[in-house]
Amino acid sequence: MSEVHVIDHPLVQHKLTMMRDKNTSSRDFRQLLEEMAMLMGYEVTRTLQTQTVTVETPVGTGRFETLANTDVVIVPILRAGIGMQRGLQMLMPFAHVGYLGMYRTEDEEGNIGLVQYYCKMPSEIASAKAIVVDPMLATGSSAVAAINRLKDLGCTDITLMNVVAAPEGIAVVQAAHDDVDLYVAAIDEKLNEHAYIVPGLGDAGDRIFGTI
Ligand code: URA
Repeated sequence: MSEVHVIDHPLVQHKLTMMRDKNTSSRDFRQLLEEMAMLMGYEVTRTLQTQTVTVETPVGTGRFETLANTDVVIVPILRAGIGMQRGLQMLMPFAHVGYLGMYRTEDEEGNIGLVQYYCKMPSEIASAKAIVVDPMLATGSSAVAAINRLKDLGCTDITLMNVVAAPEGIAVVQAAHDDVDLYVAAIDEKLNEHAYIVPGLGDAGDRIFGTI
């Protein structure tokens, strides 16, 4: 069964509160999201396997830990997921990046839809650890579609990382993919009639890119 890890570290919560504030500028929002991604990435990577190697330091020789496998692929869901890419890359400079492009639609009757328009993965995706990133987990439909796509490409080690999640989105992801663990900074109250998270932080993409 998939697990939901809520990262309650004081720095994560402090930064998230600043991001929620509607008066926070796009510039500060971007910076905070990058820092959040790095802090959350620290928890997401806690289960990476290590191996012992021999290293000569300037004053002696010892056996020390190093990562056993650096095949990590960061998978930002476009466009808001881009805001979490650099924080994770700073933590894992060896990671490759695979983009998944999707956007949501809402028709006149209020029906929410999803359009997938782009997928570009590194060649090692089938054997890599994939970390799917999107600041918001709302209905869960884009996260489920992203994970479906990665599984179609043969990937079996998939983790989902979101800043704010709605209970509805978590339930949808867990129902579709009970082998995928979720890492979030907060689980908010609910979705509104436009599938925005309440209280949330608004449209993450608009706030990152200043398209409000
Ligand atoms: N996407 C966002 O950017 N914000 C929400 O609240 C829901 C989906």
